[in-house]
This record gives sequence, C-alpha cells and structure tokens, in this order.
Amino acid sequence: MNRIHNFSAGPCTLPVEALAEARDEFMDYQGKGMSLIEMSHRSPEYDAVHHEAMDLVKRLYGLPNNYKVMFLGGGATLQFAMVPMNLMLPGRGCDLALTGAWAKKAKADAAKIGEVNLVFDGSDDGFMSLPDAATLKATAGASYFHMTSNETIGGVQWPDFPDTGEVPLVCDMSSDFVSRRVPVEKFGLIYAGAQKNAGPAGAAIVIIRDDLLERSPDTLPAYLSYKVHAPKDSMYNTPPVFPVYMIMKTLQWLERQGGLEAAEKLADQRSGLVYGAIENSGGFYRCPVDPGCRSKMNVVFRLPSEDLEKRFVAEALAAGMSGLKGHRSVGGCRASLYNAMPVEGAQALAEFMGEFAGRNG
Ligand SMILES: *Cc1c(COP(=O)(O)O)cnc(C)c1O
Repeated sequence: MNRIHNFSAGPCTLPVEALAEARDEFMDYQGKGMSLIEMSHRSPEYDAVHHEAMDLVKRLYGLPNNYKVMFLGGGATLQFAMVPMNLMLPGRGCDLALTGAWAKKAKADAAKIGEVNLVFDGSDDGFMSLPDAATLKATAGASYFHMTSNETIGGVQWPDFPDTGEVPLVCDMSSDFVSRRVPVEKFGLIYAGAQKNAGPAGAAIVIIRDDLLERSPDTLPAYLSYKVHAPKDSMYNTPPVFPVYMIMKTLQWLERQGGLEAAEKLADQRSGLVYGAIENSGGFYRCPVDPGCRSKMNVVFRLPSEDLEKRFVAEALAAGMSGLKGHRSVGGCRASLYNAMPVEGAQALAEFMGEFAGRNG
C-alpha cells in the first residue's frame, strides 16, 4: 500500500484507521452475511450506526439538549437553499457576511427567497481580510445572520464569532467542521458538507436549535423542510447510509484522538509549519491573506511566477504530495490541512517548500 500525502481541498484525506475498519467490515457486516450498504436502513445494525454518528456530533461539540443533528443529502450546497427556505421570515430579510466564494453562493440562494443585507463585504480587498467579529452587528428583526467560518478557496477563517443577540446565527462550517471548539450556544444553525473533515461526499451535517424548527413553512416540499427531518432523526426517507457510516468511523477516530481540543492543537501545528515555510522563504512564497485571519485548514500561497507554481505542484507530486494546485478560480497553490492530515504530512510539505525555494529562488 502506498498512501501519499493528500492536500486536496475536498473530497480529501480521511483517517487511515477509519478506512481500514470500513474495508475489514465491508463484505460481511457484523456476521450478517452482507455489507452495511445492502441492509435496510430500518435494520437494528444501521440504526445503531446512524444514532452513534449523531451522538458523536453531539458529544464532540458538547451540544445542549435543545439542539438536533441531521444528516441530509445534497451537500452544503442544498443548505444554501434550505436555510433561507426554512428560516427566512416574510418581509424581514437576512444578514450575511460576504467573505469569499462560498459566502457568495450562500448569498445568491438566499437572495432568491428574501432580502440579503451585507453586514460585511470583503470584495473591496479581494476577500483577503476579515473584521473583528465583535464589531459585527446584526440588523434588529433580521431572520438570521449567515456567516462562513472558513473560506475554503480564499483561505480566510474567522478566529471568533459575533454575538448576534436575538438574531439566530447561522454558519457554514463545511471546511472547518470538528476542527476546533466553538461556542455552540451562540448558533441557531450550523451546517457542513461532510467531505472535508467529517467523511465522504454525499451528506451534509446540520445542527439546529429546536425553536427554529417552528419556522419551516408548511408549503415546503417534504425533503426541503427541517421540520420534517428533525423529529424523524433524518429517517424520513432513506438516509445516505454509506456516508453516515463513514462519518461515524471518522468521528470515532477523532474522539480517540482527543476530540476537538486535540484537533485544534494539531491544526495549529500543521498550519504553523506551512505558514512558517512561507514566512521563512525570504519572499519566495507569499500568502495574500491578512495574518489575523489565515485559515488553519486551507493555506493559500503564490510563487514568483505561474510557471514556478506549475513546477512546484508537479515536483511535489513526484515527491509524494498531491492536491496542491489552487482552486481554478484563483490559481496559485493551496495546501488543505484537514484533521486526517498527519503532522508529518505538513512537515514534509514545509521541508519540500524550503528545498524548492532554495533551488529556484
Ligand atoms: C465545500 C464547501 C461547500 C460546498 O459543499 P458541497 O458538499 O459540494 O455542496 C460549501 N461551503 C464551503 C465552505 C465549502 O468548503
């Protein structure tokens, strides 16, 4: 087996232990003579997986009892639509912090349902900085306040979250889900596509505060309504059973590592190594993001020329490191350092960066 260091932004590297457990159990799950994905989703075996996955989300975040966890199809993108469809109050609009490519998509869908008031617009400086979260003010009476905790493409991450008072705080945590502790009681709703820190693509994890379920209009088609999914523990229809199973395996692994506190420390170490390589390169590498809000999950950087960037990506691949090309919309390079990336992977990248700069600087 030859596993390389995979710096892809998503789908992305997952814990080897979780993958190996799934492999070992795949053909014959718990002596039932079939795989888990061939079983009824109403079977006791799947039911146990489903509820353990939900409980892991609750345990890792220390969720109070008035929060529900859901596993839904459609990725984070469906949540761009479901959030306004369920939570937008007639004539009240919503607040949104425009911090990059993903916030833009959330804004576009919300604007189809109601007014979107920008409480922050980072487009003037190309989304390279964030204000102090404490200075953000929610509009009185707004339906909710939407933010994106980590911009996966631009590489900016909120270090803190605002106080939005009576206005429910809604957060797209797709790319830093379960990577750090967060004050969960500040949030009305958290959502994340699973395929960055939590598992394979094909499921979104949604955490919602009970009282918000009352808002879902009865006119919504069933699948689009939180009020339909939440009381049924996401078993209204056939849930994405394989993604949920892998989410369980991945979060069990995370819990064994020491949960969110351990994840936070490892994220500091990994990102510290790569940002250190940038800072110590004498200007060969440049990170365009303001140092106060550099992402610990997605480190973006440029080299002196696009030609060097191409060579960097190709030579890194030859040295056992893949997925370092920046998003096609912005170019440059990007190293995604999710939970399952071992510190040695970041170390290997930092060393390679130093060596490449020495040869080409
Ligand atoms: C990846 C990502 C999404 C989109 O997720 P899909 O599952 O592809 O819909 C949304 N928001 C952020 C911050 C992301 O990183």
